[in-house]
Amino acid sequence: MGEPIFAALHLDLTDDTYGTMIRLRDGTHVAVIDCRGDKAARRFFTRWHEIAHLLVEEDVDKQVFRSTDEPLERLIDQIAGHVGFYDSIFSPLFNTHVSQGDRLTFDIVEAIRKQFCPYASFQSTLYACHRRLATPLLYIEASMEYSVSERRGLNQMRMFDDDKPEKKLRIQRAVPNDAASEINLTVRWNMRVPESSIIYTAFHEEITDATGEENLNTWTFSKGGSLIDCDVVIQTRRVDQLVMATIQPRVGQ
Ligand SMILES: [Zn+2]
Repeated sequence: MGEPIFAALHLDLTDDTYGTMIRLRDGTHVAVIDCRGDKAARRFFTRWHEIAHLLVEEDVDKQVFRSTDEPLERLIDQIAGHVGFYDSIFSPLFNTHVSQGDRLTFDIVEAIRKQFCPYASFQSTLYACHRRLATPLLYIEASMEYSVSERRGLNQMRMFDDDKPEKKLRIQRAVPNDAASEINLTVRWNMRVPESSIIYTAFHEEITDATGEENLNTWTFSKGGSLIDCDVVIQTRRVDQLVMATIQPRVGQ
């Protein structure tokens, strides 16, 4: 239709690019959502991400959605999470599945996802549930990483790597909901996951879905001290090279 910009579309959609938005000559915007391969799992969120860009910047000329940690992109993701799971539509559905005081389980998230939008990802639906839950829930992701000082050491030139440190399973993302923040249910970024935790077992034994109970005071710091004394239920899901998990106080506490 004489829009030459589409000729270069294939150059925009690189491996780390999920969507791109183009302004046509008449001012209309067209978002192209890449649904090929693994990117398909994110297509619901990618679409809302592109719409969120237009909400904050309505005359944007061109924008490419790459999975980056840039502050603006993260802000856009936040807005996408709100408009994609629009409260007056999502909350009534959420409330039919979760009554006051209930723990959130992956089964509940899955049931809500199927009903709300089957092509939304499990993770984005879990996020939407997490912030609406009245009871404390800490969401975490763990993967194999170095400690901060190990990373610093690795950046320096080494002639021999005999004493090269080993990666350990560490917390890479920790997001408490409001109720969790109130009771200080949180973990530190890059903290090591103890071998006694179900999260450790799920990762190293490659278990897709697991549930376990433990006390967070078994999560100790190398310099002494531990997390709060709290019996929790942990549910885990191993995806590729990371484990996502929900941590919630055991009911009745
Ligand atoms: Zn973007």
